[in-house]
Amino acid sequence: MKLSKFLVPTLKENPADAEVISHKLMVRAGMIRKLTAGIYSYLPLGYRSLRKVEQIVREEMNAAGAQEVYLPVVQPAELWKESGRWEIYGKELLRFRDRHDRECCLGPTHEEVITDLVRREARSYRDLPINLYQIQTKFRDEIRPRFGLMRGREFIMKDGYSFDTTEDGAERTYLEMRDAYQKIFTRCGLEFRSVEADSGPIGGNFSHEFMVLATTGEDTIVSCDSCDYAANMEKAETGTRSVSFPPPAKAPEPVITPGASTVEQIAKFLGLKAENIIKTLILKTENGPVAVLLRGDHELNEVKVKNFLKVADIDMADAATIEQVTGGPMGFSGPIGLENIRILADRTIFNIESAVVGGNKPETHLINVDPRHHFKVDDSGDFRAATEGDLCPRCSGTLRLNRGIEVGHIFKLGDKYSKAMNACFLDQEGKERFMIMGCYGIGVSRVLAAAIEQNHDDDGIIFPPPIAPFTAIITPVGAKSEPINKVAGDIYEALWKSGLEALMDDRDERPGVKFKDADLLGIPCRITIGQKALSQGNVELRNRRTKETILAPPERVVSEVQKLIESWGQLPHAE
Ligand code: ATP
Ligand code: MG
Repeated sequence: MKLSKFLVPTLKENPADAEVISHKLMVRAGMIRKLTAGIYSYLPLGYRSLRKVEQIVREEMNAAGAQEVYLPVVQPAELWKESGRWEIYGKELLRFRDRHDRECCLGPTHEEVITDLVRREARSYRDLPINLYQIQTKFRDEIRPRFGLMRGREFIMKDGYSFDTTEDGAERTYLEMRDAYQKIFTRCGLEFRSVEADSGPIGGNFSHEFMVLATTGEDTIVSCDSCDYAANMEKAETGTRSVSFPPPAKAPEPVITPGASTVEQIAKFLGLKAENIIKTLILKTENGPVAVLLRGDHELNEVKVKNFLKVADIDMADAATIEQVTGGPMGFSGPIGLENIRILADRTIFNIESAVVGGNKPETHLINVDPRHHFKVDDSGDFRAATEGDLCPRCSGTLRLNRGIEVGHIFKLGDKYSKAMNACFLDQEGKERFMIMGCYGIGVSRVLAAAIEQNHDDDGIIFPPPIAPFTAIITPVGAKSEPINKVAGDIYEALWKSGLEALMDDRDERPGVKFKDADLLGIPCRITIGQKALSQGNVELRNRRTKETILAPPERVVSEVQKLIESWGQLPHAE
């Protein structure tokens, strides 16, 4: 491939709408162009890299026994009505009508279509298990498409779905997919973690997200510094130590706290730390209001409360509800004297010896409150968001918080869709049973962006070799001369013959321009052919990541490039 003939429109300036580095660099390197919000065209370089990610995904899915299919993008509303998602899927689902006035949508995911296919084609236990996947364009009308390929409206996903006859079988398939995902992201050259995610009503440990570690990630990963516990923020449990105190010497006492209703204001007013305050959150659920008690410096984890209460939705109560439930205004709620409402307490509040709580009266708080003696709660448990420095829930280690980008998600679905859509098979006794499903997604286009978030420097992209658009770029420099062109051409041929993809920078540009572009494009190895080194029988090889250069005679270039690629995995990540 000759760069002079390739559509690689590099730019010097960052695009005005780009906030994150992968977006800036992919546009500047001529890999992608925006068509409209959240919708991008892939140019030749971008598409080459994308295809590499796809190929790794495909090979590992095939190796794990999954079969590739290709399902329609346009889906009829009837299937979504059957599963019940037509009503509950938000505006991300792009709905429209065809010329016959039939309701349709663009597929944001394919549970309905695949369940419909499999319920028709697999009727007996002999036809199962089956695991099908596709690599395809998805459309989700995201409210805030941003960060280039990271959160697009149109994006490329690998989505896979498995159908088993038993729970055990479905769990085995789940673990096989987990292994396949480990292999995929390792082969892509990424530093990632697999973290426990919330599996909702399914329970158990059957939802994992795969996170690429990058400071710009939108997600928070909680992990232990001494064991392998790792979870996303929604799921992350916290460990506790309990502390014992003597019985309280004082009774609760009201104090007037004029204008102080937030934890910060009260802490300041009373000269205390936030961790000595208990905040009482009044929440609304479909089963009525509940109160949740948290330490002042902690945040609520809504998912934990939802799962505990087995409710679909929770929301902060409005002032009128708070007034009705507590008898006091918003900002002054407290557990003492609170009746006719279920009270949940995060267990860390019991480690506060002398706490401050709301007084359920205007401008009033109570001090000297002992949570073990001065009020009663209905349930206590882990209801808060994990924080940096918390105790690990599995060992005596410490929890750390890091940023990550979700590139994959695997989930045991159980019989959610098979029940709703009546996907049954006949078992060995001839009895009809629901299929047990799992689903497995990878954001293929997001992987590419995440790889760049994790691997770049001030000069541009530093592609991990397995997903680089080319392995090497050959840059002949200096005055055009027959020997330089000949050596460049020979090296180009030799590299391709050995299965190493090379790009020839044959443009009539100054060396500085060529070097800058080679760095921007992030091609792992640059091979420079110039008069001076060549007069001594050498060319120069430069490692994009370490910036180290070595000299080698042209006939050794292939083995040197191979060496460079092999040593890549041993280097620390660039970010
Ligand atoms: P997110 O929380 O980031 O919106 P999600 O939970 O909606 O993701 P899934 O439905 O599990 O995502 O989709 C599977 C994978 O598809 C995700 O792990 C992610 O890598 C990718 N993905 C999801 N939404 C987008 C998007 N808008 N743009 C690019 N990739 C996406
Ligand atoms: Mg989403």
